[in-house]
Amino acid sequence: MLLRLCIVTALAALCLTAQASAARRPRGDERNVFKSYYTAEYNSFKKRIMAEFRDVKAGRFSEFLKRGTPGGKGPDQKVIALTFDACGGRHSGYDAALIAYLRREQIPATLFVTGIWIEKNKEIFAGLAKDPLFEIENHGLMHRLCSTEGKTKYGVHGTRDLGDVIDEMELGARKISGLTGRRPLFFRSATAYTDELSMKVAGRLGMEVVSYDVLSGDAMRQSAKKMQRNILAGARHGAVVIMHFNHPEWPGLAALELTVPELRRRGYSFGKLEDFTVKP
Ligand SMILES: [Zn+2]
Repeated sequence: MLLRLCIVTALAALCLTAQASAARRPRGDERNVFKSYYTAEYNSFKKRIMAEFRDVKAGRFSEFLKRGTPGGKGPDQKVIALTFDACGGRHSGYDAALIAYLRREQIPATLFVTGIWIEKNKEIFAGLAKDPLFEIENHGLMHRLCSTEGKTKYGVHGTRDLGDVIDEMELGARKISGLTGRRPLFFRSATAYTDELSMKVAGRLGMEVVSYDVLSGDAMRQSAKKMQRNILAGARHGAVVIMHFNHPEWPGLAALELTVPELRRRGYSFGKLEDFTVKP
């Protein structure tokens, strides 16, 4: 009996270990989907960028909270950017009701999408990209946290080195521009954490790294009411709010239904990030 218990325990431990290492392992299957992206042209482009940054230090690792300055509006205007991520992998859902609400209320929004989310939601993505209400930005090719030193956060699978960071940013951008004809202007790393070198690389690739300055709380599984409190507390001209649209089971829609009328009552309108200047 004891021996049997030991075997069962050992098997369970092995199973857990296997699961843990699977979470850490580079996503081979997902990488294979993008095999055709590694052309001779891309490989030599990547080599060139790597050479340019070879001696640059990784620098600080942070969320580098960014504040936006909306352009083209009068001084009495109060504009907020609502941004929504679609992460992909195990999190490849689509919150159709939330998007329908944005359309019904005519709320412009910025959508950060990954290559792997697009792969699982091709038709939905095509519809979003065609809709002038939405701005499509880059959340990475495979939703890897961009650290040139292989750092991770919240157990999220990250890049191993500078080469992986370039793949994540540049191939994510090419995935989007190949489908939309518009190259993304912004990059948001998985978890919003990144290092200073990655930010410089993004700049070299023509993208600004952006995190957020108002955490809605959806990823922390907070209630709609708590999310409303978070957003109202952070509301100010130029605020960049982070939410998700890949988790229909989260209360994002309920939070918006509570928050948007109140923000409007306070004189706020909504703008896309492309109309903002974003600074640390
Ligand atoms: Zn994400």
